[in-house]
Amino acid sequence: MLQKLEKLYEGKAKRVYRTGRQDQYLVEFKDDATAFNGAKKGTIQNKGALNNQISAVFFQLLEERGIPTHFVELCGEREMLVKSLKIIPVEVVVRNIAAGSLSRRLGLPEGTLLPCPVVEYYYKNDELGDPLINDDHIRALNLAAPRQMERIKEIALAVNAILLDYLSDKEIDLVDFKLEFGLKAGEIVLGDEISPDTCRFWDHKTRERLDKDRFRRDLGSVEGAYEEIFKRLTGKSFNQVQ
Ligand code: UDP
Repeated sequence: MLQKLEKLYEGKAKRVYRTGRQDQYLVEFKDDATAFNGAKKGTIQNKGALNNQISAVFFQLLEERGIPTHFVELCGEREMLVKSLKIIPVEVVVRNIAAGSLSRRLGLPEGTLLPCPVVEYYYKNDELGDPLINDDHIRALNLAAPRQMERIKEIALAVNAILLDYLSDKEIDLVDFKLEFGLKAGEIVLGDEISPDTCRFWDHKTRERLDKDRFRRDLGSVEGAYEEIFKRLTGKSFNQVQ
């Protein structure tokens, strides 16, 4: 029987608990939503349950395709069991279509198709506002070794190829997404979550945004967008399974 013991960590979107098992943690997904480094706060009804179950679909798909992830199993509507990792404080963003900060930084209109995937790194540090960094910064700050970053980039691009292929069947454009990695027994393992909080998903035909930009930009129908992603991935409407 799995035990939910003391809380080890609480972030903006998740809580992490110790379990009776040495090397596994329980992750609980919250309905709280934040944007702009915490400056905008709100609640998205059922977001925790939706992101938990959407992330599980993606992690299972990636595991089947040989990507090492922290996912072990779902263990509740808004909880999953994961392998405990030593998190590398680098956010890895992969982009296929210009949007958000890339559009602002480089003056590329949102929606511009990029000729090749663009990988970026951000230093995971709230006080500094998660600044954009490169391989040399990562080395200078001793966040990860060059060999580890090579492996991280290789996995990030493989995840992109798998998700692009999978989502195109569901009429979803994968605009960009953020990954986090950690170490387990010296190996690089994909952690965190893969959800509408951390990805930009656009409907292929209408280009309607089906992700957290609906919250960031006050576009309305935020829960509806998360539910639509759940439905396209699982074939079931979220209400039916509750
Ligand atoms: N992203 C994230 N967490 C962050 C910053 C970005 O999950 O702290 C995701 C975001 O949802 C998008 C991608 O990373 O899918 C690229 O985000 P961008 O740099 O364009 O950020 P913006 O400033 O537009 O939110």
